[in-house]
Amino acid sequence: MQKSQNHDNFAFAVRYKNDIIRKNSSSGAYFQCVARHFIDNGGYVCGCVLEDMKVVHIVSNNVDDITRMAGSKYVQSDMKNCFAEIGKILQDEISVLFSGTSCQTAGLKMYLSNKNIDMNKLLTIDFFCHGVPSPLIFKEYLNNYEKRRNRKPIDYKFRCKDYGWGKASRGSNYFNTILRSTYARAWRRIFFSDLVLRKKCHDCNYCTAYKPADITMGDFWGIEELLPNFNDGMGISVVIIHNRENVKYVTELLDLEYFETDLNDAIKCQYNAFYPSKQNELREKFWHDYFENGFDFAFKKYIYTKSFVIKQKIKMLLFLLRLRNYNG
Ligand SMILES: Cc1cc2nc3c(=O)[nH]c(=O)nc-3n(C[C@H](O)[C@H](O)[C@H](O)COP(=O)(O)OP(=O)(O)OC[C@H]3O[C@@H](n4cnc5c(N)ncnc54)[C@H](O)[C@@H]3O)c2cc1C
Repeated sequence: MQKSQNHDNFAFAVRYKNDIIRKNSSSGAYFQCVARHFIDNGGYVCGCVLEDMKVVHIVSNNVDDITRMAGSKYVQSDMKNCFAEIGKILQDEISVLFSGTSCQTAGLKMYLSNKNIDMNKLLTIDFFCHGVPSPLIFKEYLNNYEKRRNRKPIDYKFRCKDYGWGKASRGSNYFNTILRSTYARAWRRIFFSDLVLRKKCHDCNYCTAYKPADITMGDFWGIEELLPNFNDGMGISVVIIHNRENVKYVTELLDLEYFETDLNDAIKCQYNAFYPSKQNELREKFWHDYFENGFDFAFKKYIYTKSFVIKQKIKMLLFLLRLRNYNG
């Protein structure tokens, strides 16, 4: 997508002042800050939650739901009937904040425009996106956990900050309340293996800094070099505002600390601001093996390999012996 004449970009490094809320969010809790601002002012928020172990979007004006929306869920989210719900709320002239992938945002805008619904009271936030993994494989991964452990998964954290943010958050995934199991960490390996992203993600039109949403957020990778004094190790969001009028969603939010930065500096470590994630050359083989031989077979062959399990166990041992300061 090319920069259009009416498309300005303003880049910021931001962090929410409330450290507890920030700890539960993926980076600087920018989403939580804007979402709480919306419901405090009588609006609604549409965001992503884990409900009955399924990744779905919901619409709510309840602070407990907003809390559940914190954090990235690295699976394609089911939008259910959120577009229609948002349409109805906008027709009642109530503000709505929507947060999702760029393709979901573009889909929402197309839906509202086809229905001739006024979007003046809609604010959209998308994010730099590596791609969305298959919900089918996530379901298989959870079933496999249940079979192996003889225990139902009742919660999963795709990422947490018990040992900090950045490298330190890489190995931190929970099942139920159990942190750091090698199996819990395997979803991250599935995500970054690029074996099970939606096929279209490898040919995504939105890998650019000029996105369909009003605002784009992401992890501020490279912040330790750019603004070392602002980086406290607990997560900084990069925020790109695509229109001068919306700069207030950084500068006027009193609970937010921020620094304005150069756009190129802000996105230089964001691979997906420039290119879609490359398809793994074994992708077709993985799916073939999965359909022919089942999940456990494909999982052990491509993801949960003996060398992965051994490496993880060694890392964990070094971490427990305090010879390594993070467990990723
Ligand atoms: C699949 C996926 C891939 C990502 N890839 C990158 C990347 O390559 N680089 C990068 O910098 N950042 C990426 N992010 C964004 C990043 O993980 C953080 O969301 C971002 O740093 C903002 O953090 P935050 O603390 O402000 O907000 P958060 O608390 O993380 O924001 C939560 C909100 O994000 C949205 N969200 C969460 N999961 C999903 C989902 N599955 N589908 C749609 N919307 C969702 C929801 O509205 C949710 O309420 C990705 C996120 C997802 C979900």
